Amino acid sequence: MKRCEVNRNDLSPMMQQYMDIKDQYEDAILFFRLGDFYEMFFDDAILTSRELELTLTGKNAGLSEKVPMCGIPHHAYAGYIDTLIERGYKVAICEQVEDPKATKGVVKREVIQIVTRGTRLDNRVDSKSNNFLANIYDFDNCYCISYIDVSTGEFYCKIIEKDNREIIREVVKNGFNEVIVSDNVDRGLINTLRCNYHIIVTITKDVYDRDIYAYIYQDIEDDRLVITIKHLLSYIVDTKKKDLVHLQKVEVIHNCNTLLFDVNTKRNLELTETIRNKDRLYSLLWLLDKNKTAMGSRYLKYNIENPLTNRKEIERRYDLVEKLSTQFILRDDLMKELDHVYDLERLVGRVSYGNLNAKDLLQLKTSIASLPKIKNILEEIGYDKEIETFPELYDLLDRAINEDSPLTLHEGGLIKDGYHSELDELRKIRSGSKDFLLELEQVEKTKTGIKNLKVGYNKIFGYYIEVSKGNIPLIKDEYGWDRKQTLANCERFTTPLLKEKENIILGAEEKIIHLEYKLFMDIREVTKRYIRSLQESAKIISEVDMLQAFSVVSDENKYVRPKLVESKSIKMKECRHPVVEKVMKDKYIANDILMDQDTNVLLITGPNMAGKSTYMRQCAISVIMAQIGSFVPCKSCEMPIFDKIFTRIGASDDLVSGESTFMVEMKEAGYAIDQATEDSLVLFDELGRGTATYDGMALAQAILEYIHQHIKAKTMFSTHYHELTDLARELPLLKNVHVSAVEEDGKITFLHKVKSGAVDKSYGIHVASLAGLPKSLIQRSEQILKNYESKDTHKQEFKQTSLFELGVEEKTEEINFIEEKIKGINPLEMTPMDAINFLYEIKKELKEKR
Ligand code: ADP
Repeated sequence: MKRCEVNRNDLSPMMQQYMDIKDQYEDAILFFRLGDFYEMFFDDAILTSRELELTLTGKNAGLSEKVPMCGIPHHAYAGYIDTLIERGYKVAICEQVEDPKATKGVVKREVIQIVTRGTRLDNRVDSKSNNFLANIYDFDNCYCISYIDVSTGEFYCKIIEKDNREIIREVVKNGFNEVIVSDNVDRGLINTLRCNYHIIVTITKDVYDRDIYAYIYQDIEDDRLVITIKHLLSYIVDTKKKDLVHLQKVEVIHNCNTLLFDVNTKRNLELTETIRNKDRLYSLLWLLDKNKTAMGSRYLKYNIENPLTNRKEIERRYDLVEKLSTQFILRDDLMKELDHVYDLERLVGRVSYGNLNAKDLLQLKTSIASLPKIKNILEEIGYDKEIETFPELYDLLDRAINEDSPLTLHEGGLIKDGYHSELDELRKIRSGSKDFLLELEQVEKTKTGIKNLKVGYNKIFGYYIEVSKGNIPLIKDEYGWDRKQTLANCERFTTPLLKEKENIILGAEEKIIHLEYKLFMDIREVTKRYIRSLQESAKIISEVDMLQAFSVVSDENKYVRPKLVESKSIKMKECRHPVVEKVMKDKYIANDILMDQDTNVLLITGPNMAGKSTYMRQCAISVIMAQIGSFVPCKSCEMPIFDKIFTRIGASDDLVSGESTFMVEMKEAGYAIDQATEDSLVLFDELGRGTATYDGMALAQAILEYIHQHIKAKTMFSTHYHELTDLARELPLLKNVHVSAVEEDGKITFLHKVKSGAVDKSYGIHVASLAGLPKSLIQRSEQILKNYESKDTHKQEFKQTSLFELGVEEKTEEINFIEEKIKGINPLEMTPMDAINFLYEIKKELKEKR
């Protein structure tokens, strides 16, 4: 039976209430609270029973037929919700908001929160990664994106050019799995996000406009960003249904402040997970994550995904890493203290949202206890920011919160004795009466002569005297006992005196629980006032933790401080791949990476398995490490600061796009060529191998020429087309290097040593002969090779024309086009907005022309 087919007037009042609430949450599964259960009805019940393997039953709802229903016990809901939201559903939790005992008719119910993948605030979210919720707002000539980790309150935003591929790259690279979009966003884009990348997309045009969150965006001048932020806030307020005081000021991200790369590069370099197992183990993150706190680990991950470009900031981090390494005793002390610091950012998130328990406040207290020592250590190493130490808050938590508090807030035991006089009084009454009960037991035993008589308590029947069946005849009428409950082996009784004491105990118990809850909430309110400064301290601790991890890893593995140079030259001496080196059983062979101002392209030749892609990867990884402030796996390192990294390495696993490997390869190459600047690093591994030999070789050559001539980015290009090595003669900024192998005891051994110059042309044949292929076959292949080489004579001419003329023609065409456009405008009559639009148009058309 479907919900829409039902005649609502026939439904029971409770079911009518259900229908009204469900109308407002069509896109979520409604968990409808009924006593001790959450129940789901109609399609929600069918879906939930299937997903959670629950029994589907029916409920009488006033209709001739039962409506589909399934249910779960309320205390076990968290695990069920986890499963549902991991599978991409949203869950609306509807609670009874009145006391059923005090209500006549249907109890009032309200949805108190909607749980989605991107808005989780519980402590089941991976502590070492941010959990970002993002939104995309479509403006006429750009997209704006903002994203927030609701659990920590960190908030970012940026402007992105109006290009669907760009926005998809941004979403995928950052691993957003829930995205809100404005209602004018292109449906094609929404479908791609949903179908190809399994992202939960919600379309809404709502923009939040209350002042309480104005502090978040008040420093931002660009109205587009402000609208985007308000759009995301609206969704958060809708789902969380509470004001959240821990949301932080938005940080506007400018591309020029970050080393940019897309998700393919992140994947190819195995920055945060390995390609094969999609696992953190053996990724760069795994190697560097010697953080002591979850905050530090998250900050490290964020930095690896967003390295810096600001020289001063990078050098500042180097200085601190260096200090921590030289003053390693202080570093050890720091590490010991950081061991006691819990996840302050997520703790304050829970204080703000209210889903905290006493354990959270105890963790906060333990963390605060370490702050004074951390503060001293930071002063000693000359750290340039100061942390607060919160002595009053520590004192409050220390005086108030019981060390063995239970996890729930509704059974007492939260507050220490001596904190509140009324609570102490009530506890005295309760324990006085409990002592009385022990005495009573003794008295009754003597009076009746029943040795195993017990005074006990249960929730339904209250206090009782329990007597085993065999002893019942010993109870005389004159005692005045009333029978309360009959069990198989015993009977339970009460007496007027016991009843009186029961009232006192239970009255005190109830008052204690209420009072403790109230006191706990008061303490939470006080803690709330510290949220901003706790967040500031948390930020410092995240950074310091990351830097101590850099220092430890550098010392362990003998990394060096990079020298950042102004000139466009890379000089990495004895560079290693930090992860391969770490996990390899054999000795890793260090190699120099030398690209001076007169070398923009390194053409790397050598047989398969020689170590070409590892060599390229270690260069990019060293650059990334250097630009997050870490030392690098080299004996010495000089490098410029890069603006972007592009990689095309290994087989693409972009299976979702349904495109051929070659197509994907060309698209990635095209993207690099379009976006790279002379400050970028480009890695192309065996480009062109996905198509026929000559086709691929021609393309590889043309791409090399184009990069060499127009882009001038530092480029490492590995190839097995050894014909390309001849290019060194025509391209002055291209240098050949090769990795070779040798024969040792009749076996091929890869030396993994990179040497200058091209690999011998007949190298492949040589390796084949080492591998034991028949002699006649080897001779035949040498003959064929000669044949090919003699046919190659006209290749040079083709090279010359393709290289220079094409470039000049293209440039002239571009300049003419820009000139024409500029002639057609009058800047004096243009508003700033017109000017931006005009620039935008030119850029777009130029792009299309290319
Ligand atoms: P290619 O790209 O030339 O096919 P790879 O870079 O994939 O080769 O390297 C093949 C294997 O050789 C790697 O898995 C790694 O274990 C090993 N290797 C690569 N470079 C080195 C090195 N410098 N020292 C030691 N082993 C290396």
